Amino acid sequence: MLEKIVLTVLILASIGAFARRSRDLVGYLRLGAAEDRKPSELGRKLKDQAVVVLGQRKLLQWTLPGIMHLLIFWGFIVLLTTIVEAFGAIYQDGFHIPLIGRWEGLGALQDFFIVAVLAGIVMAFSIRKVERPRRFRGSHLREADYILFAIAGIMVTILLARAAEISLARFPYDPSWTPISNAFSQLFSGLSLAARDAVDTIFLWWHALVILGFLVYLTYSKHLHIITAGANVLFTSERPKGALKPMHLDLENMSEDETIGAAKVTDLTWKQLLDGMTCTECGRCQSQCPAWATGKPLSPKLLIMDTRDALFEHGDRLLAAGKQGDEALAQAVAELPSLNPAVIEDEVIWDCTTCGACVQACPVNIEHIDTIVDMRRHLVMSESRFPKEMQNALQNLESTGNPWGRPPQSRVEWMEGTSRQEPLVIPHVSEAPDAEVLFWVGCAGAYDDRNKKVVYDFARLMQIAGVSFAVLGPDEACTGDPARRMGAEHIYQVLAEQNIRTLNAAKPKKIVTVCPHCFNTILNEYPQLGGNFDVIHHTEYLAQLVAAGKLAPQGEINETVTYHDPCYNVRHNDVWKGARAVVESIPGARYKELHRHGHSTFCCGAGGGRMWMEERMGKKMNAERTDEALASASDTLAVGCPYCNIMLSDGVTERAAGEQMAVKDIAQILLQSVELDSPSQQTARDGEGRV
Ligand code: SF4
Ligand code: SF4
Repeated sequence: MLEKIVLTVLILASIGAFARRSRDLVGYLRLGAAEDRKPSELGRKLKDQAVVVLGQRKLLQWTLPGIMHLLIFWGFIVLLTTIVEAFGAIYQDGFHIPLIGRWEGLGALQDFFIVAVLAGIVMAFSIRKVERPRRFRGSHLREADYILFAIAGIMVTILLARAAEISLARFPYDPSWTPISNAFSQLFSGLSLAARDAVDTIFLWWHALVILGFLVYLTYSKHLHIITAGANVLFTSERPKGALKPMHLDLENMSEDETIGAAKVTDLTWKQLLDGMTCTECGRCQSQCPAWATGKPLSPKLLIMDTRDALFEHGDRLLAAGKQGDEALAQAVAELPSLNPAVIEDEVIWDCTTCGACVQACPVNIEHIDTIVDMRRHLVMSESRFPKEMQNALQNLESTGNPWGRPPQSRVEWMEGTSRQEPLVIPHVSEAPDAEVLFWVGCAGAYDDRNKKVVYDFARLMQIAGVSFAVLGPDEACTGDPARRMGAEHIYQVLAEQNIRTLNAAKPKKIVTVCPHCFNTILNEYPQLGGNFDVIHHTEYLAQLVAAGKLAPQGEINETVTYHDPCYNVRHNDVWKGARAVVESIPGARYKELHRHGHSTFCCGAGGGRMWMEERMGKKMNAERTDEALASASDTLAVGCPYCNIMLSDGVTERAAGEQMAVKDIAQILLQSVELDSPSQQTARDGEGRV
């Protein structure tokens, strides 16, 4: 009787501690800013739970650690039944779960998963202690060790309790279905009945105490994700992957106490705070981050951990102040340290290229980019504190509508071509209102010499294919992508609204861009401001023209070609097939993947407005990517983005490798083959793309 009373008291005490901590954690989340994350697409949400949570799909992107986690995760689900049985057995000899508790299949599953979880723990220790991947740098490793020992303890104690019950003939299942527990029961065959009973009691109690301790400890540890991961996946943004968090901005009518972006931890939304609580510290994001990989201080993992630690450090004080009333809470919030630089150094948030590798890698759907951009928004719009070289680009965007600071009238100069080329005659959209395609040239295509050649060649291809198309010429402005990602939402919104008005007036049937950033912004972000357009990236469009027989690559290009996937195509929009289809359609071209390709691509270093910032620390990202491309021993590095073109061409120049590898846009390679029908023409174009 006494043991039942003691166990009941312990259960109530641990449930009480768990509930109290859970109430505080919910209170912490409520300190965050409001954000509507009500799931509206139930089917998609159920699928996410099935695929990401139950199927562990994102974890399985890393085979061995993925299998390890899958075994432990599924083991825990199945072994919830053994936990019920263990507690039941303390209350009542021969306890079994009603209905299913004598089904041999369940007994066999339990046996299998006890071994599977132990195997998972051995794998976890070998990864952590032998392999020691760099992604764990900065994580709380000792805490993870405690948790692994606790899980191992839970498995070993239940296994031995089951074995003792078999030896006492008290086991609810036919032992022939539970061969592992049955084998271990031999350990106790030489003991007296009383001794076996004592062994059973010891292991049942040991098991129960570890479980109760674990229940409380996990709410204070990084294993909180066991509770929060499902919710974090449920409330994952339903925005398109490439769209930043919308921002209501009314600078003229703002009151003084309104904050722009995230200045303090409480300016992060409840979902961003939930992200912090859900971080498992696995470091998958860190391992994929181009900034971290090239020696910058930014680690997406440490950034998320820092926001969580700031919340946990001040959460109790804020909750206590909240109990005293709004004024006391406002005072406590005012006394919080600033997110930047007190919690996270400025340098860290400016290192991000918004490449999306972290978001893609995260097994629990944490959204790092939103948090980084919110901090940038505050620094730029409230404090005017940002890398000084950004100033020029922002001023140019405001005064001329493009980061190069060139006049809008010069947007059509690319049509003149080079001295060896015929000028192109392309109508303004007002002269060709029925055009099949509106060619969105983009600022880099209009003003950067290398990219002017790309848009010229792409326009030539459309002419050869017989596509009727027009341009906006001086009426086109920057889509606002760099301004938005630099945190200058006010500049973005002016540019975007201007472009949406222009496009709505032009009523394009289809927009084609050569820039993945323009493509992403028009497709995914303009709808936030009421602009809905059919837009396609030129690599996909060219693949369609080739497939439809409108472009016939006929000239042989006897080269090995590799392709650098732009982040804003592949990661943010799942666009990657067209470029490969184009290269594969070219006679003689031998396609070869880079080591990091497709969704695992490595950023060129120019996204997120970084095109307009200096890279002062570590190895340059474009140098890292160029080295990888050179290591592929390809003749041509194909690109599908004007920023990548600039960055990787510069990388090849810096490595003095122009003779070894040419950098060319997919459109340039295709035009080369389409126009080639004699060796003499081949010789005439041979120097193109060399830097
Ligand atoms: S978006 Fe890219 S650069 Fe930014 S933190 Fe994530 S992985 Fe790093
Ligand atoms: S943010 Fe996601 S990927 Fe990064 S350490 Fe945390 S759980 Fe792992």
